[in-house]
Amino acid sequence: MREPLPYAGGTLDRAASYRSDPTWIEAKLAGPSAMIIPMWSDKCLVTEAGPVRLARSVAGAVLAATAQPVFLGLDGEAAVFAVDLSELDEQVAIRLAGATETADIRALFPGLRTDQAAELAYARGLLRWHREQRFCGACGGGADSREGGHFRACRDCGRLLFPRIEPVVIVLVEAQGRCLLGRHRGAEPGAYATLAGFVEIGESLEEAVRREVSEEAGVKLGEVSYRGSQPWPFPGGLMIGFRAQALSDEVQVDGEELVEARWFTRAEVRDQLGPGRPDSIESYLIEDWLREAPAR
Ligand SMILES: [Zn+2]
Repeated sequence: MREPLPYAGGTLDRAASYRSDPTWIEAKLAGPSAMIIPMWSDKCLVTEAGPVRLARSVAGAVLAATAQPVFLGLDGEAAVFAVDLSELDEQVAIRLAGATETADIRALFPGLRTDQAAELAYARGLLRWHREQRFCGACGGGADSREGGHFRACRDCGRLLFPRIEPVVIVLVEAQGRCLLGRHRGAEPGAYATLAGFVEIGESLEEAVRREVSEEAGVKLGEVSYRGSQPWPFPGGLMIGFRAQALSDEVQVDGEELVEARWFTRAEVRDQLGPGRPDSIESYLIEDWLREAPAR
């Protein structure tokens, strides 16, 4: 598949060996080359020029208004931090950041550079995790940010809390030159999609693919092969893409997640289905499959 997939391809050096030193983080944050990305409730703060990324010299008000900035990495010499303004009123956050409005990354995606989309998605996912992981799940104690925000530690029991990433398998199933697409409950008529689902505890990725396709569409699979992966921090996903061969073309949808599923030839996919979302791995799995054979 084409690489990098959307939201991958970040160019920051995460500097993992330095960020464990709080003095280094402090010095980087205080340094004149530091860059600050403010966000508000999962959204970017934007101007007409795009998402705001403030130089340290003009980020004083933003930094004063927020709790701990999160260190994303180094862009050359410049340390890049993300700050969460979610506790402020939206209009106050917009004003402090010198922005004109807030906007969702996925809506901005077509206008973003590869590295910019990756950086913003990374910032969004990490800030969201901090908002939702203020307490220890074992003892309920408060947890503090550590190593520039790459984990938290419980003040009471010492437990380390790492950012939560939720793996999702997504698969293009094929049989005899056709691919299986389903329509999810609530989707518009004609809106067909590849099958996908969360990986469960105690299951390999391949097992998750086989289970999801069997549960949702009643199709048993032969070979399952990995195609590529994509960060999906909306809020905490990692999409893992597969291609699979069906052992038969009989389909029996579960009626729960899928209301309908059917086989499409390449020509049918081209003629009947609209372009997928430009930022989804699904579009890439389908595009990859379409490219394998002549147009007609
Ligand atoms: Zn604890």
